[in-house]
Amino acid sequence: TRIGIDAGGTLTKIAYWDETKEISFQSFLSSDFKAVKDWLDTNHSLASICLTGGRAEQLKKYLSSENEIPYIVEFDATMNGVMYQLKEEVISSDSAIIANIGTGTSIHIMNGDTHSRIGGTGVGGGTLVGLGAALTGIYDYQDIIELSKEGNRTSIDILVSDIYQHNKLPIKGSLTASNFGGVALKSNEARNSSDLLAGVQGIIGEVVATLCIQAADAHHVEDIIYIGSTLEENELLQAIIESYTILKQKKPIFLDKHGYSGAIGALLEN
Ligand code: ATP
Ligand code: MG
Repeated sequence: TRIGIDAGGTLTKIAYWDETKEISFQSFLSSDFKAVKDWLDTNHSLASICLTGGRAEQLKKYLSSENEIPYIVEFDATMNGVMYQLKEEVISSDSAIIANIGTGTSIHIMNGDTHSRIGGTGVGGGTLVGLGAALTGIYDYQDIIELSKEGNRTSIDILVSDIYQHNKLPIKGSLTASNFGGVALKSNEARNSSDLLAGVQGIIGEVVATLCIQAADAHHVEDIIYIGSTLEENELLQAIIESYTILKQKKPIFLDKHGYSGAIGALLEN
């Protein structure tokens, strides 16, 4: 068995190849390296492993293997994993902006076989869970995304059309003029946890998409590939990102295994 492990700030993702042709996937909380070790010990003690991710060194120490475990730089692993998935899913893209929405968000440009990091923001998956918890007291990721799907952002945000009433619109009225500005300015409206969580998803999706769109304009590329576990089962965030990206005439691309690009890249390196 060959195994690629991406130990990130929040989640440790594993991609592995057994006898089968298909890659299998598994993920654990990075706060629970014991679960990772137990999984490796029980199922794959003889596997050859390659590590990547910001917590790779910590995990390596925890596994305290007698053999040196190979390591690949996170950005290289991620790019290789993205290129592999593009090929598998028969998506062609020669140049693209890639946003990895992990605990934080890292933004890259890919040109053929080369890539470089061009920016990032602290607004990411950690913000979804953290700000969501601060506003509602709900900490569970699944609960947060499920509830947010039922939310309504009209009492949370101020749209351009809210401000430019009866006035000629300088930009599209459906754009958000102020995320969460509605809480201050539409103060008589009722809002529940679902609405607040939908508003948080709006901040993350719109901040990340906006940065990517500006990067795409600056580098004259059309495709924007959005990855990271923050998109996992999170249709609302995908929809927010998709509509913003399309509105700005760029092409959004999502990959099936959102959070596993780094792990796949480490597996392929192995
Ligand atoms: P980084 O790359 O920034 O070091 P990471 O690799 O751990 O972090 P990802 O695994 O890509 O980041 O994404 C982490 C985010 O995914 C979390 O912040 C959360 O929003 C979301 N997420 C998805 N599934 C879960 C889960 N089961 N538990 C907690 N968060 C989850
Ligand atoms: Mg990561």
